[in-house]
Amino acid sequence: MDALKYTKIIATLGPASASVEAIRGLIVAGADCFRLNFSHGDGPKLQPLIDNARAAARAEQRHITILADVQGPKLRIGRLPSQGVLLHEGEPFAITRASDMGDESRVHSPYEWLAKDLEPGARVLFADGAIELTVERIEGADVRCRVISGGRLYSNKGLNLPGRRLTVETLTETDRRDLAFIADADIDIVASSFVRAPADLDEARALVGKRRVPVMAKLERPEALERLDAILDASDGVMVARGDLGVEMPFEQVPVLQKRILGSAARRGKWAVVATQMLGSMATSPRPTRAEASDVVNAVLDGADAVMLSEETAVGDHPRRAVEAMAALTCAGERHAPGRTDDTLDAELISFSQGAAGAAVAAAERIRARALVTLAGSGKTALALSKQRPELPIVALGSWEPTLNRLNVLRGVVPVAIDNRKELEEQLVAADRHLIEAGWAQAGDTIIVAAAMPLGERKETNTIRFHKVRAQ
Ligand code: PGA
Ligand code: MN
Repeated sequence: MDALKYTKIIATLGPASASVEAIRGLIVAGADCFRLNFSHGDGPKLQPLIDNARAAARAEQRHITILADVQGPKLRIGRLPSQGVLLHEGEPFAITRASDMGDESRVHSPYEWLAKDLEPGARVLFADGAIELTVERIEGADVRCRVISGGRLYSNKGLNLPGRRLTVETLTETDRRDLAFIADADIDIVASSFVRAPADLDEARALVGKRRVPVMAKLERPEALERLDAILDASDGVMVARGDLGVEMPFEQVPVLQKRILGSAARRGKWAVVATQMLGSMATSPRPTRAEASDVVNAVLDGADAVMLSEETAVGDHPRRAVEAMAALTCAGERHAPGRTDDTLDAELISFSQGAAGAAVAAAERIRARALVTLAGSGKTALALSKQRPELPIVALGSWEPTLNRLNVLRGVVPVAIDNRKELEEQLVAADRHLIEAGWAQAGDTIIVAAAMPLGERKETNTIRFHKVRAQ
């Protein structure tokens, strides 16, 4: 019998995982969703990864989700000599508008509002916080700093201004161009970086509007956490983006923020991902550290719907092993604490569909059903069922490939393609066949079907059907 892995795994694609063969290996190892990182390329450059991921999914006869992650206003420094420059504690260092090559005393930043957004006493971090400076003086457009914690600095590294309000807009020119590409590309979900307000998501949504691609918010700025519920309500999901979050906020706050974000996502009925450095050491080592093993299992126990790999699969030495380790760890977490967390949906959100989903899960547990089945119209019922975290597979039957691909990233949801023109009874025959083939149920077992009847009219979920699986 195929053991079900409930928590979904997102693997970032890159040079280490670009071929159809490599991606097939990741699917077999347990990857459900592939992330394209638009920080490392534009649409035309990433198109081969989309094509190869789709080809790999076809070869494995699986639905996979493709997530496009747009860069947002990630600030960077400019050029430095290729060997980098060494910054020493206590020495002066300037960030300038002049765009020539930097040296031991200064570097350019293309961020035009840097001097405006800083003031004496503010902190500046380079390279994800590895190097820290403090601002001493603003001179016109140049910022004169003192090195607090030194190190070797290389070209184009990230630049963070922790705790400062940034003048730059959340969607940059580059993001707008990337979103225009995504609007016509074979992409299932968009992730918007450095989101600060609900309006940021509306803007991204408008730019990919034609196909109603779901938009998720990457939580990596303190402003986003101040209005977390409003951002959750405006989004289709959130990512605990611990890389930048741990630079913008004190790193010691990140574990507790992760729990808070996942709890809020559960209460608002939204999909949530934990990302970054989950198995970081596996970029070079074939085995995770004990701390990483603990981190992945704890993300599952905190209620993550999906966990993500970044460098581990994009540029690491052991992409497939990283996914295998992730799958083993998520399964171990699920075995320890299957199903429910303490967080229940906020009362004002319990709509017809939500109520029906709750009743379907309760009924399934009461009669020890072997599976929940939904007839995936928009996927709303599948999401509502998934957020109840049942200890059962949620089989989402559907005929529209983009919906089936998108649903594959929801916790516990298994998308299955069927012919749309059939009536409910005929769809149940297809469900029975799939459940028996997958080994999840046998003839005579009970399943619970949640459906919006009449089919195809985009109604809310209004029907719960108790069904006995029949042999074909
Ligand atoms: P990134 O986002 O990998 O695009 O920076 C994730 C994070 O910041 O954790
Ligand atoms: Mn980030």
